[in-house]
Amino acid sequence: MNQSMKNLQAELDRRRAAHLYRSRRVTEGPQGPEVSVNGESLLGFCSNDYLGLAADPRVAEAMIRGVREYGVGSGAAHLVTGHSRAHHALEEELADFVGRERALLFSTGYMANLGVVTALVGAGDSVFEDRLNHASLLDAGLLSRARLSRFPHADAAALDERLAASRAENRLVVTDGVFSMDGDIAPLAALAETARRHEAWLLVDDAHGLGVIGPGGTGCTGQAGLGSADVPILVGTLGKGFGTFGAFVAGDAVLIENLIQQARSYIYTTALPPAVAEATRESLRIVREEGWRREHLQSLVARFRAGAERLGLDLMPSSTPIQPLLVGGAGPALAISDALRERGLLVGAIRPPTVPEGTARLRITLSAAHSEAHVDRLLEVLDEVWEA
Ligand SMILES: *Cc1c(COP(=O)(O)O)cnc(C)c1O
Repeated sequence: MNQSMKNLQAELDRRRAAHLYRSRRVTEGPQGPEVSVNGESLLGFCSNDYLGLAADPRVAEAMIRGVREYGVGSGAAHLVTGHSRAHHALEEELADFVGRERALLFSTGYMANLGVVTALVGAGDSVFEDRLNHASLLDAGLLSRARLSRFPHADAAALDERLAASRAENRLVVTDGVFSMDGDIAPLAALAETARRHEAWLLVDDAHGLGVIGPGGTGCTGQAGLGSADVPILVGTLGKGFGTFGAFVAGDAVLIENLIQQARSYIYTTALPPAVAEATRESLRIVREEGWRREHLQSLVARFRAGAERLGLDLMPSSTPIQPLLVGGAGPALAISDALRERGLLVGAIRPPTVPEGTARLRITLSAAHSEAHVDRLLEVLDEVWEA
C-alpha cells in the first residue's frame, strides 16, 4: 500500500471507531411499508415516499407506456435532441401546479440546486443560507464562488442583519422549505419579507413539502400563501412525495430562460428518460386529485406525536411526516436503530456530518402507505427499546 492508500484506510478506520461508518442495505422488491432487506421483511419508517406513490401501479403503468412510446434513453441533453414532448408537458403541468409562469426539469434535486445557484450568483455576489440547509444547497453556494454566509437556523432577524451589512450586488437567500433532517418548516413569510426589503432573491427548496403539505399539496409556499413575488425561485424534487425521479425549478419566464442559457448542470447532462417524465405526469395527477393521501398522512403524524409524547420520547417540533427522535451520540443512535431492526423495524440513524455533532437522531418518516396499526407497532417497539 502506498501512503495515499494507507491514508484512505485510516479514514475508514477512524469513521468506524467513531460510529460514523456508513453502509448500504440491499433491498428487494418495490417501495412500501414493508421492505425486504437482505431477505428479511421489515416495516420501514425511513423512506421519502411520503404519499406512497413510488410503487403505485398507475404510475408504473404510465412509465411502461412511456417506454413503449419513447424507448428508454432520452439520447441527448435537453438543448440537443433530448427534450421530448413528455418533458415539455410535465414542465407545463408542474408550472401550473405551483402557480408559476414556467418550470424547468433537472435530472436530480442536487443538480437543480447546483445549476440554479451557480447561474444566479458568482464572484462578487453573496449567498445567505440557513445553517441546516440540505448539502446540495451548501455545495451550490460553495461552487458559485459567491461569498457564503450561513445564518442561524430559521432566524429571519439574523438574516436581516447580514443583508443590511452586505454590499454585494447580487444577494441570494437560500432555504429548505421543510428541513430534511428536522422536519420543521422555514419561516417563509418572514424570510420573504426580509429578502424583499433588501432586494435580495429568495430560493426555497421544497423537496419535502411539495405534494405533501399545503393546500392541494402545493407545499410550504402554498401553505404560507406565497407566490412568485415573494419566492421568485422555487425548487421541487420528484423522487420524494411524487415517488418518481428528477427535479424542477419554477419561476418567472425570465428566470427560466436564463437557467436554460446558463445552468451548467442543466446544459451539460443527458435529459431524464421521457418515460420518467410520463410517470411523473401521472403521479402529479394523483397528487392533485387524491387529497385523502395528505389527510391520512396528517392523521398518522398526529397519532405518532400523541403516542410518542405519552411515552416521553424526545420529539422535535415538526408537523410534517419527518418526525425525528433526538438521541445525541452517534453510537447510541446506531444502537437504537439496530435494536429496532432486531424487532422488525427499519429506521435510519442519522449521524454527523449529515446533522451537527452531538445531534444524532432516528429519522422517522411516515407515509400515506402506512396504516394506523403500523404507527402503533412503531410506538410499541420504541417503548420497548428506548430505555434499554
Ligand atoms: C433530497 C433533497 C435534495 C436532492 O434531491 P435529489 O433529487 O434526491 O437529488 C435537494 N434538496 C433537499 C432539501 C432534499 O431533501
